[in-house]
Order: sequence, then C-alpha cells, then structure tokens
Amino acid sequence: MRLYNTLGRQVQDFTPLKPDVVSLYTCGPTVYDYAQIGNLRAYVFTDTLRRALALAGYQVKHVMNITDVGHLISDDDEGEDKLEKGAFREHKTVWEVADMYIQAFLEDTKQLNILPPNNYHGAHGVYARATDFIPQQLNLINILVDRGFAYQTQQAIYFDVAKLDDYGKLTGQKLNDKEVGARGEVISDPDKRNPQDFALWFFNIGRFENHSMSWPSPWGEGFPGWHLECSAIIHATLGEPIDIHTGGVDHIGTHHTNEIAQTQAAYGVDLAKYWVHNEHLLVDGQKMSKSRGNYLLLKDLSDNAYDPLALRLLFLQSHYRSQTNFTFEALDGAQVFLKRLQAWADLKHQASQAPSPSLKQTYSETLTKIKTAVLDDLNTAEALASLSGLASQSDEHGFNAKAIQEILDELDKIFGLDLANRGDITLEAKDLIASRETAREATAWAKADQIRQQLIDMGLDVRDTVSGTLWSRL
Ligand code: AMP
Ligand code: ZN
Repeated sequence: MRLYNTLGRQVQDFTPLKPDVVSLYTCGPTVYDYAQIGNLRAYVFTDTLRRALALAGYQVKHVMNITDVGHLISDDDEGEDKLEKGAFREHKTVWEVADMYIQAFLEDTKQLNILPPNNYHGAHGVYARATDFIPQQLNLINILVDRGFAYQTQQAIYFDVAKLDDYGKLTGQKLNDKEVGARGEVISDPDKRNPQDFALWFFNIGRFENHSMSWPSPWGEGFPGWHLECSAIIHATLGEPIDIHTGGVDHIGTHHTNEIAQTQAAYGVDLAKYWVHNEHLLVDGQKMSKSRGNYLLLKDLSDNAYDPLALRLLFLQSHYRSQTNFTFEALDGAQVFLKRLQAWADLKHQASQAPSPSLKQTYSETLTKIKTAVLDDLNTAEALASLSGLASQSDEHGFNAKAIQEILDELDKIFGLDLANRGDITLEAKDLIASRETAREATAWAKADQIRQQLIDMGLDVRDTVSGTLWSRL
C-alpha cells in the first residue's frame, strides 16, 4: 500500500511499525455546533483510509478524540472557548452543549456509514473525550515542566517552542516564518517568550475568569489548551509512536505541529510515522467553514431528499488530496450514480436462469482493479470508475445472486456504500411483475401498462431486457 506522507511530502510505501497491526489516530470534532459537511469530508476520508488498511490485510486500531474543552476560536490561543460560546448561544451548560452535539455527530457518522473508533472504550463510549483525560493531560504538562519545555506566566503555562530543535518539521517552516495571531485579535500575554509558544494550561484569570469548565492543577485552577489532549490521549490509548495520524490540512501548521512538539519533548519519540491529511471541501473556491458562513449540514441535504450516502459517494469521487468544490449539480450526479449502483445491487434478488459463465471472472478482475487503485494512495475516483463500468454491463451479462452478493460484500468493506444488505421487494410486487409478463406475452399491452403504473405507484420501475424483466426502485 502507498500513502502520501505530509512528513516528507511524497507518496511512500506504507510499512507499519509492527507487522499486521496498524495504529491510527484521528483528530475528532469540536462539539460546540453541528458538523458542517466539510468536517464530514475529513471523517469520510479517515474511514476510507481505515477500510483500505483492512483491505491490505492489517488489523486497524483506531482512536478518535472529541474536543469538549479548550479549543479557542482561533487555533493560536486567541478568542473565546468554542464550547463556552456555544453554551452562551444556546442558553445551556457547556456539558449539555457537548452532549447534544456529540449525539448529532454520532447520528451524522451513522448516516454516512463511518465506522466508530475501535480501540478505546471509556465512560462516554468509544470516542475519547478530552474531559475524560484531564489527569493524563496534567501528567503530560508535569513532564514538560520537569524537562524544561514549559514555563508559567500569570495567564497560562506555555510550551517553549524555541527549546525544540525541529519544531515545525511537519510544515518545513522555520520558526520565524510561522504566522501567529494572523486574525488581528491577539490578546497577548506580555510574559510569553516567543509568539509561537502555545498554551498547555489556561488559568481561570482575566478573560477566562468565569470559565465554566475548570479543574484544579498543581499550578492553579484552569483548563487545558487544545493541542494537549491529542498527545495525552495517544499516550494513554495507543502509545507513541503510532503508525498513522490523520486530520484536515488546516491542522498541519498549528495543531499537528504542536502535538508533535509536545510528544517529542515529553517522551523523546516521534508521535506518528505517517501524517495523512485531507484537503478541503470548498464552496465557490473558498474553504467551507462555520466562520465564513458558507456551510451546509448533512441535515440540509437529507431534508432535501438527498441520500447521505450520495454525499459519501461524492467525496469518494475526488481524491482526498484535492480541493473539491461542492455544488448541488455534483451532488445530483452522485445521487444518480448511487441509485444506479443500488439498482445493480438489487439484481441479486432477480437471479437469472442462465448466469453468464464469464460473470465471476469479470467480477474478480474488476475487484482486483478496484483494490489496486484504492491501495495506491486511496485512488477512490479510479476505483469507482471501474465499479461504474461493471454496474452498467450487467444487463448483457446475465447475473447470479451468489456472485453478486459476494462482490457486494467486498465492495461495502471498501466503499461503505451499503449495497450488500438491500432487501427484496414484496410478494405482492413480484406477483404484479409476473402478471405483467403474462399480459405482455398475450400482447395485452393496455393491461401491461396499467400494471406498470401500479408498480410505479409502489415505488418500482420495470424494464424489459435480454435477461428478462428487471425491477429497480425509483
Ligand atoms: P474541527 O471540528 O474544526 O476541529 O474540524 C474537524 C475536522 O474537519 C478537522 O480535521 C478539520 O481539518 C476538518 N475540516 C474543517 N473544514 C473542512 C473543510 N472545509 N473540508 C475538509 N475538512 C475540513
Ligand atoms: Zn489533534
């Protein structure tokens, strides 16, 4: 398998640290609001990577966090805490806000067929909540203070980036080139040593005097900085170094750079061997984001009769490393494609009397092509092109329920499009199809048309092909 590693900036052969097992960590959502579909692209990407690793024969140990504290409006320690802001907006406590948006996130991931993480199970489920790891985060700060990488001011405990030789190795930027507080609302701490130093712990003073989430610490009451949780959770659950760390490209410069710095400084080892990042979903050439207001939620799509899996398919149609402009025309196209695949999957319930002997071979050749493409840095677009070809050939081929079921099972493992478990139509509908065939044989065209209309009213269409009458869902 080959993957693009941001660390090194090239496609590399993937070799796990331990044979057969891959540790995978994903930065999860900040649960102050609904996820917009750009965020969901990041999780569909990680899910696709996870499925590809399984396809390559690895057992995948996957952990994902949920940020329910400490993520400020800017990634550079400026502005309000996102959770506090959400609580104020909704007249709820921060804990209620977190619970509500965690539920919404779980619902979104379910609808998109995103596999839940599988290597952590804590008080709040399989996602590792930052607030469930406060002692581990304090322990990490302790080590960093002990080793001389952290210092305390009145406002916060900071990581001193100048103490680490290769801070910035993920971006390849030198320390002085890194932009900080570019949004112009810098609330500076006069005691901060370098502008790039980042907070490990905020004290409940000044702008955070009334911060509602806070914990005692040896240095004073407060709450953790956002970057800390990922290093602490990885240490507690998977153990560093891990094989693969994922997230969106916007995390490279600050969040992931800081995660790397914390782990390197505290434990003297790399955090991850491969860093794999997804590009952004755009709207009119601009990154889709809450702050720009140009975003859509999954619910906006499902309320308008789009199948959530059409969005998943849309994401898979472009490479995870290319910026993709979201348009409804493209989503319409994905929905049509999904319906075509579903109609093909439904053929398993319509097994032909005479399956083509070459069908199995065609299936296995296509599956090989699909696997090869997916294992080559997740070329899902090419893989889907092969699948599309297969689905459109079926009418000529004849078909065989068992062979179709087998390939559908394999395809679902790779693409997660839920093609394998589609049910059969009712007996009533089957009887109507048989009556229509009898009417056609007797050249009773008006009757055949009338039955066809009845089937349409039941949500089924029929077409007459070389393989007999085939139905598909409208
Ligand atoms: P956040 O909740 O802001 O930490 O974002 C969750 C994930 O979504 C991160 O991995 C981000 O990099 C990613 N992300 C945010 N906006 C987009 C976008 N427009 N397209 C793709 N990924 C995004
Ligand atoms: Zn993270």
